[in-house]
This record gives sequence, C-alpha cells and structure tokens, in this order.
Amino acid sequence: MIEKLNSIKEEALNEIQDVNDETSINNFKSKFLGKKSAFSDVMSGMKDLSAEEKKNVGMVSNEVRSFIQDLIDKKADSIKKEGLNKKLEKDKIDVTLPSKKRRAGTKHPLTQVREEIEDLFISMGYDVVSGPEVDSDENCFEKLNLPKSHPARDAQDSFYITDDMLLRPHTSSMQVRYMTSMEEKHAFKMICPGKTYRRDDDDATHSHQFSQVEGLVVGENISLSDLKGTLECFAKRMFGTGREIRFRASFFPFTEPSYEVDVSCFNCDKKGCNICKHTGWIEILGCGMVHPNVLENCGFDHTKYQGFAFGAGIERIASLKYGVTNMRDYFTNDYRFLKNFDRKEI
Ligand SMILES: [Zn+2]
Repeated sequence: MIEKLNSIKEEALNEIQDVNDETSINNFKSKFLGKKSAFSDVMSGMKDLSAEEKKNVGMVSNEVRSFIQDLIDKKADSIKKEGLNKKLEKDKIDVTLPSKKRRAGTKHPLTQVREEIEDLFISMGYDVVSGPEVDSDENCFEKLNLPKSHPARDAQDSFYITDDMLLRPHTSSMQVRYMTSMEEKHAFKMICPGKTYRRDDDDATHSHQFSQVEGLVVGENISLSDLKGTLECFAKRMFGTGREIRFRASFFPFTEPSYEVDVSCFNCDKKGCNICKHTGWIEILGCGMVHPNVLENCGFDHTKYQGFAFGAGIERIASLKYGVTNMRDYFTNDYRFLKNFDRKEI
C-alpha cells in the first residue's frame, strides 16, 4: 500500500506539469484526491489492516495527500498570477502618448459680434435693453408712426399670432416700451439687440429670422452731428480705424430726416472690389432723427426733446467682418462653419 501511495505521489508530480488552467486543475484534483481516485481506493482498503500497519500507511497517506494538495495550491496560485500579469500587460497604458484633444465650446459668431457692439455702446454710457419677441401691433407699428394703412408696413409684412400680436419685425418695439414705461421722462441712451422676424424668401442674403441692434438717444439739444459722431465711432470699432462713413438720404416712417449709412470699403479702401460691388462703399445701417410723432406717442414733449435712432443687422455686420457669403450658415449649426470662430483650443 505504501508503494501504491508513493507511485500515486510520483504520478501526481509528473502530471502537474501539464496542468495550466482552472479546468485542468479541477480535473487533476478529482483524479488524485477525488472519491473515485486511486488514493481513495487505498484509503478504503485500510480498514483491513492491523493497527501497526494502519499507523504506518496512515502516516504515508497523510504525507502524500498534503503533498498533492500542496501541488494543487501552488499551481492554482501560479495560474492566477499568470492571468493577472497577462491582463496587466494587455491593459498597459502608455503615459507618454499625446492626450485626446478636447474642444471647449465657444460663442456663436452672431453672439460674439453682438457682444462687441454692446461693449462699445456700454463704454459710451448706453443701457442695453432686451424684451419680448412677440409684441403688440401698437408697439411694433402704431407708436412708431406706422398706422394701419401705412404703405411702409408692406416692407415689414410680418408673422401675426393674433390680429394684434406678432413676432416683432424690428427691435424698435423695445424703444417704444422703454420710452412709454419711463414714469418721469428724461434724457437717455439705449441699445436694444435681439432677434427679429419678417416674411421673406430665404436665400444667401435674406432670412425670415435675423437679429438687429438698434440704438436710441433722446435728450435736449441732440443733433445730427451727434448721430454722425456716434456712427463713425461704431464703424471704426467694427471695421477698422481708417474707415469713413457717408450719409445718403432715405426714408423711414419713424425718423425725419432719415439716412442710409455707408462705410468706406475695408477691403479695397474705396478703390472698388467685389465686396463693395466696385463702388468703394458698403451699406451698413439705417438711421435718422426721431420723428416728433414717435416722441409724442411715447409721452415725450417734442418741443423739449430731440433724439436720434439707428438700426443695423447683426448678420450683415458679422458677414462683412468675417467674409461670410451665405447668411443661412449662421442658423444651420454646421460644426465646420462654427469652428472657424472657435478661438479656444486646449
Ligand atoms: Zn471694396
């Protein structure tokens, strides 16, 4: 029996070499120490032995069992370590590789231009005012000297929500709100940037939605020269210090006299190019002295107060500044377009 046990030990020692994973280690265990193993047969034969023999065989069998168990434990341990090493090798991180670039969000080009305009006027003491995009016919037209029958309404034919409420066709409705809400009338300077809506056929230079910035200054002794000086400052800030402006007579119902304002072409310096359509000048905004009717409609005594007003399209200013040829690019959110205005990259 002792010989049998020793040969089991010998066999186990040989076979452990071929054990290399969890399944084979379980098979090995059941083959050498399981219920149907040769070792188990020897154990069950012990009952027929004498006391002395039992003692000897018992000692050897204990020694063989713990030898085999030891083989199993060591093998299981080394298989586990090997698995871990393989996993570590596979998951190895190369800390010297360059990191993935993360792009931070940036402001929309129209927001950037609007804020640049706001900064300029804030520095000149203007309030920046915002308000509802749906407003009454009275605020959008009536009080601005555009009664219901006025032909100039056709140019601003708009999106009505009800008979009296509409998507504002210009931010001038905010000027009306600002003036009428003032309890004690006094001199002021304000700009009102915001979205506006007019019925239009969308193409590269027209859109049913666009944004405006309008300005209004009311006070005593306000003259056309104040308006000219202000707009010259605006043109130089937006298009460069060398720019000149010129006024052309025009018509708006809410101003008298009214003007279209051109800026000298920043691309060709008045020599003529595609941007200025070979005229040397680019139209940038409309303006004029506030019509006395508008002042009266909003509760201001026109014999005491005068004022000037101007309005520019933010898309137009942005397009001129950045050479954008299709204004739909501002609204379609194509990342390839927007990333041109992304100045931050980390
Ligand atoms: Zn030009």
